[in-house]
Amino acid sequence: MHEVSHSLIALAKTLDLRWQHYRSSGEFDQFVEFTLSLNGLTERLTQQNLPGLAGACQELENRALACLTDHSLRPVSDEQSAAISQQLNVILQLLLRHETPAVMAKRLSDATDDERDPWIRQRNILIVSRPGHAWSAALVEQLAFYGFRPQAVGWDETPAAGEEPLAIIIVPDQENSIYPQHALAALQKLRARHLASYVYCLSVPPALEAIVNLQRAGANVCIPAEYRLSDMLSRILDLVESREQETHRVLIVEDSKTATAHIQRALELHGIDSRAINTPLSLLQACADYRPHAILMDMYMPFCTGVEVTRALRQIPEYQSVPVIYLSGETDIGQQVEALRLGGDQFLTKPANPIILSAVVKTKIDRYRDMLRSGRHDSLTGLLNHSAAKEQLEHMLRRALPAGHLSVAMIDIDRFKSINDNYGHPVGDQVIRSLAWLLRGRLRNTDLIGRYGGEEFIVALGGVDAGQATTLLERIREDFARLPHAHGRGALRASFSCGIAALPAYATSSSLIEAADEALLQAKREGRNRLVAAGRRRPEQ
Ligand code: GH3
Ligand code: MG
Ligand code: MG
Ligand code: MG
Repeated sequence: MHEVSHSLIALAKTLDLRWQHYRSSGEFDQFVEFTLSLNGLTERLTQQNLPGLAGACQELENRALACLTDHSLRPVSDEQSAAISQQLNVILQLLLRHETPAVMAKRLSDATDDERDPWIRQRNILIVSRPGHAWSAALVEQLAFYGFRPQAVGWDETPAAGEEPLAIIIVPDQENSIYPQHALAALQKLRARHLASYVYCLSVPPALEAIVNLQRAGANVCIPAEYRLSDMLSRILDLVESREQETHRVLIVEDSKTATAHIQRALELHGIDSRAINTPLSLLQACADYRPHAILMDMYMPFCTGVEVTRALRQIPEYQSVPVIYLSGETDIGQQVEALRLGGDQFLTKPANPIILSAVVKTKIDRYRDMLRSGRHDSLTGLLNHSAAKEQLEHMLRRALPAGHLSVAMIDIDRFKSINDNYGHPVGDQVIRSLAWLLRGRLRNTDLIGRYGGEEFIVALGGVDAGQATTLLERIREDFARLPHAHGRGALRASFSCGIAALPAYATSSSLIEAADEALLQAKREGRNRLVAAGRRRPEQ
């Protein structure tokens, strides 16, 4: 299970404190504060890829928000309040469980055989089905390949105690038919026991009622019957790949100190970082220093208006698409439309409701990031694309120099053209994707994995010398060669060749890439399905 960061625990403790404050004072304002913190915690849990916990938190948030809007409930009724307390406790307990040293020790002792091997990111996955179901066996095999730790259990079986499962996969007895009552009951029980796990239900028929019932019982994802195993694996891998944990950064351009304080406080409660400037004249400098993901722009300021500032900002290519959200007391619809037409993304009226303000900022930032991301990532594999990978390598190299370790590997699938020729392009694509998943499953989140060309990949491992890199990639090479790739008439096997170069023998990104490429060519010459480290003397020819 994930290690939960201290800031997250701190946030949860603040939340608890706010709740205690409300319980002792009964003041509605305190309740609003609590709701704001709750919203912040949900966002953080989502950011940290704890979807199950985030879902539980969201549910609590909805309950609290309902109390905010329903005026008849002021102050919050004892019954509501008790329900909130109880739900909050469950969430806090779950979070705190990650923190205790005992849990940490247990986690390590459960995984004695991988202690030697920090590369295999073991993740528990529970697969629930009737005993001996063919899918369950296939899932166990495939998931283990990609570095997970799957466990198959029957409907009424209690899974072995230990690490919380990252995901639970439910395999129904009958394909493409409504889940029977016993399955829903089992799901509900699992959901109650594993609040923080992500629950997938397989082979769900396209019937709204069936889906709603599954969601009520605790399913997070309903996978349609026509989905193949590979589609599902890709969704699970997306889940475990922790998203960039960079904070959201917002630049506030606002001449009023009071308004600035109000906005900053709302953002802070939601875990959004902000910086404020009180004159538009320092905007460009602030953008260059702070690199905001969004700008909150006041409409009326000395020197010029927010609209003028935004138009000027849009002249600079770097800032053409950074979201700009206007904040103003403006109530004139015509003016607002004009402001949007001239390059703004959204208009909020001051004083903005802090929950709406934060939600708008987050949504805008997420869209903006998705847009940036789609420019940096390859759509077939989700890996970094060629130019983004090179950029990332530069970063890693700067961090590693002068005395650290860094290894670069170039990987190329062997005789790939003949796979395309014999089995068709879609099967070729699936082979490329499988290698991408294998790399994603086996390497650390901090490692660079890029799709360098068609069937060529680049990997960079920080803090790893050539010897360690060779051992690690050798194991991945062996496993990839054993991996079956399904095609219409059965399964094929593929292999890759790999060249490795490392610091300190090569100390620039271009020399690392060149040397690794050279080594890769040599691996091809020597017969493929092998690994060559640069610097080794070539055999006599
Ligand atoms: P070698 O062992 O020497 O690497 O042989 P190879 O056949 O893999 O080498 P080559 O570089 O000649 O062929 C690569 C082929 O990969 C050519 C191209 O048609 C195919 N290819 C490139 N991108 C994709 C893709 O996205 N999908 C599929 N299916 N094929 C691709
Ligand atoms: Mg102003
Ligand atoms: Mg090739
Ligand atoms: Mg090639």
